[in-house]
Amino acid sequence: MQWLKHVVLVAAVGIVGADSQDPIEHIRESDLRADLFALAGDQMRGREGGTLDEMAASMWIAERARDAGLLPGGDNGTYFQFFPLERYRVSAQSTVTLGGQALRMGHDVLPDGTTTAHVDAPVVMASAAQLAGSAESPSLDVAGKAVVVRYASAPGVTTPLPSLRAWVRTIQRAVAAQEPAAIVAIVPDEARDQWNRSAAAFPRGSYALDPDGTAEPRVPSVGMPLLYVRESAITGTLAASARVTAAITAESFQYPSVNIIARVPGRDPMLAGEYVLYSAHQDHDGVRYPVEGDDIWNGADDNATTSVALLAIGRAVAAAPGRRSSLFIWHGAEERGLMGSRWFVKNPVVPLSAIAAVLNGDMLGRNEPDTAALLGATAPHRNSPELVAMALAANTAVTKFTVDSSWDSPDHREGWYYRSDHLPYARAGVPALFFSTLLHPDYHTPFDNPDRIDIGKLARMTRWMYATGRTVSEAETRPAVDPEFKLERCRDYTGNYCGN
Ligand SMILES: [Zn+2]
Repeated sequence: MQWLKHVVLVAAVGIVGADSQDPIEHIRESDLRADLFALAGDQMRGREGGTLDEMAASMWIAERARDAGLLPGGDNGTYFQFFPLERYRVSAQSTVTLGGQALRMGHDVLPDGTTTAHVDAPVVMASAAQLAGSAESPSLDVAGKAVVVRYASAPGVTTPLPSLRAWVRTIQRAVAAQEPAAIVAIVPDEARDQWNRSAAAFPRGSYALDPDGTAEPRVPSVGMPLLYVRESAITGTLAASARVTAAITAESFQYPSVNIIARVPGRDPMLAGEYVLYSAHQDHDGVRYPVEGDDIWNGADDNATTSVALLAIGRAVAAAPGRRSSLFIWHGAEERGLMGSRWFVKNPVVPLSAIAAVLNGDMLGRNEPDTAALLGATAPHRNSPELVAMALAANTAVTKFTVDSSWDSPDHREGWYYRSDHLPYARAGVPALFFSTLLHPDYHTPFDNPDRIDIGKLARMTRWMYATGRTVSEAETRPAVDPEFKLERCRDYTGNYCGN
C-alpha cells in the first residue's frame, strides 16, 4: 500500500501534474557545464582506455551517478563491470643497431606493426624512386639486405608525400619479391608529426578483446621488420660496409578497462523487467605528443558530452521513474575498438532480450546550434522504425533540431554509423539509435576542450535523448526490430566500394 501510494504520487508529480515541474527540467545547463569541465579537465588526463586515468574518471562518474540518485547496476552490487583488454606490442627491450650505433627502441627507432625478427644484414642505401620499379625489373639487388631509404620527395618533385605508413607500404610492395632482410625508413625532422604518431602508437601496441573466451592465443608474425629511424638520432654518415642488426621481440599482457553501470527501477511492475538503455563512453585518447604545447587529449566533445548527459538524464529519471526500468552504461575503451560495448553484449547484466532500446550518444556539443544527426534512422541502418518514429516525435515536441540524415547513408565516406557503442547492440538485434552532432576540426586532437562545447546545444541533445527514452519507457508496447535491417556499408574509409 505504501508502495502503491508512492506510484500514484510519482505519476501525479512527475508525469501528469499540470502545475508541477516536468522532470525534464532536471536537465540543467549549469550541471552539464560543471560536470563537463570536471570530466574533460586536464586533471582527468584524457581518460585513456586501459589506463589508471580511465579508472580515475570512472570512479568519478560512479560517484556522480550515486549523487544523481542512480542505483548500482554492475557486478556484485557495484557500479562497475571490469573486463580485460588483451594487449600486444613490440617489447621496449628489443635492440636495433645501424652502422654499429645502438638505437633506443621507442626513442630513436620505432617498429611498424608487431613483427618479431632477428636481423644481421648489410645495408643497401636506396631512394624511393630507385625502388619503385623493383617489382617488375629489379634495378637494385636488395635480397637478404637491409634497405635503408629516406622518407623524402625525389629532387624536383613537388607533389606532397603520402603518409609515412602508406609510403613504406609502397616500398614494401616494390621489394617484397626480392625478400630483403629489413626495411629501414629514415624519418627527417620535418616529418615530426608522422614520427610522433608512430611513437604514440608504439607503447600502446594493439588491443583485442576476448568477450566469450574463445579467441585463439595470438602468435607474433615472424618476418621482415619495417623500422622507422629518426634521422637526428644518427651520428655521422653510414659507411658502405655498414650493417643493420635487430633483435625484435613481442610481449602480451592484460590490462583492465571498465563499464560503469547504473539503473533506475521502473514504476510499473508489469514492465519493470524491461529496460531503456542510455549509452555513452567515458574514455578518450589520454596523454600523447604535444600539439602547440598541449599534450592532453581531453575529449570534451568525444565523449565527455554524452557522459555528463547521462548524469543529467539520470537526475531526471530518478526524479520520476518511467514505467520500464532505465539502465545507464558508460562504456570503457570505446576508442580502442568499441571494447566496453562489445564486452557488455556478450556479458550483459540483464538479458539482451529485456532491453527495449539502446539510445547511444557520441559527441553532442559542436557545430551549428540547430542541426543534429540521428543515425540508425534510415534504411539500411534503421533497425526499428517504431523507435525512430519515437525519437523524431520527441524532437518535434521538445527539441526541434533540423535532423541531418546524410551521415546515416551507407555511402557516407566517414562510415559514422559504424563508429560508436550502439553498433554491437544493433548487431545483436536490439533496437538502437545513435545521437551525434558530428565531426569538427578538433576531433581527436588536444583541442577538443570543454570551452569549445556549446552547452546550450548539449542540453538540447540531452533533452532529446531523455524525451526519446521517456517515450520508450511509457509506451504500451516496446519498439519492434525491423527484420529488413542490414549492416550494409558500401564504402570503406578510402572510398572503395565494398559490395555486399
Ligand atoms: Zn566517441
